[in-house]
Amino acid sequence: ITKIGVLTSGGDAPGMNAAIRAVVRCAFYYNIEVYGIYRGYEGMIQNDIRQLDSSDIAYVLERGGTFLKSARCAEFRTPEGRKKAYDNLQKHGINGLVVIGGDGSLTGAHLFYKEFGIPAIGLPGTIDNDLSGTDNTIGFDTACNTAIESIDKIRDTATSHDRLFFVEVMGRDSGFIAINAGIGSAAAATLIPEKKMPVEALIDRLNTRAKAKKQANVVIVAEGGKSGGAMEISKKVKKYLPNYDIKVTILGHLQRGGSPTSYDRVLASKLGVSAVEGLMQGKCDVMAGVINNKVVYTPIKRAIVDDKEVDEEDFRVAKILST
Ligand code: ADP
Repeated sequence: ITKIGVLTSGGDAPGMNAAIRAVVRCAFYYNIEVYGIYRGYEGMIQNDIRQLDSSDIAYVLERGGTFLKSARCAEFRTPEGRKKAYDNLQKHGINGLVVIGGDGSLTGAHLFYKEFGIPAIGLPGTIDNDLSGTDNTIGFDTACNTAIESIDKIRDTATSHDRLFFVEVMGRDSGFIAINAGIGSAAAATLIPEKKMPVEALIDRLNTRAKAKKQANVVIVAEGGKSGGAMEISKKVKKYLPNYDIKVTILGHLQRGGSPTSYDRVLASKLGVSAVEGLMQGKCDVMAGVINNKVVYTPIKRAIVDDKEVDEEDFRVAKILST
């Protein structure tokens, strides 16, 4: 490996910059050149590719977002699009790739490797935490912290006005942010896609809490849940509890931004180094992740299988503490 290309793709996540910076720093340590591929696969197809130097990565570790920019690119889903991307990499002599993104981006990396044989290593960059082969994805911890900070503020106003709040957090069909936010912010209930909670059970819970004179009532709802988002659920609950003053807050994209936490900075940094060293050792078509504090390389095909689930134990703890 003499020239590595690095890109960020799909939904952005705090810590992506820290990961890019670690890839560049580590490559320089081993005298490998690094090319920044801007706007993900879109930039690979458009030849928006530029050699990076030390000045590009100064003061980026602590910044949210990704200085390489991210994009969604329909053309990369076609063989013609991927051929264009390959030709551009050839022009620059790039013979190794680091792809930082979610399951879609890693699926693209896997296909691209299969077709053209350029060694690629994926890094899990998504706030959703929905990739196997790593305990946490880059950005997940920051997103949980942002959600909890926001919910603390909502709780203040909920308590002052005796209101019931439904707060919707991100997590595309996965309840990782929700369950963490639920435990970490003493939620009255946490509704996640993986575990359906009938509206009657939620009403029982709220009634029990009312009898116990619990002051704050904040219910966390994961977006994309089977029973609908916070808005839908609040409407159902209003029918049962017409006297409650109910409000809905959708945290939305604010969970994607912000300076990464120490956890995400360290995770991204470790994984950036592991990506470069993995490529040097001849590893490819794998995702680097951290399991039980050790770096592990998992075949991308395995990492993208949608079977990572919220820990039963977390769900149990959330239930005990909110009843
Ligand atoms: P994320 O990486 O956050 O899951 P997406 O699912 O939007 O985000 O994927 C990001 C990009 O990865 C897509 O816009 C596309 O360019 C590429 N990609 C996703 N799935 C595939 C696929 N099946 N084949 C080729 N490229 C893909």
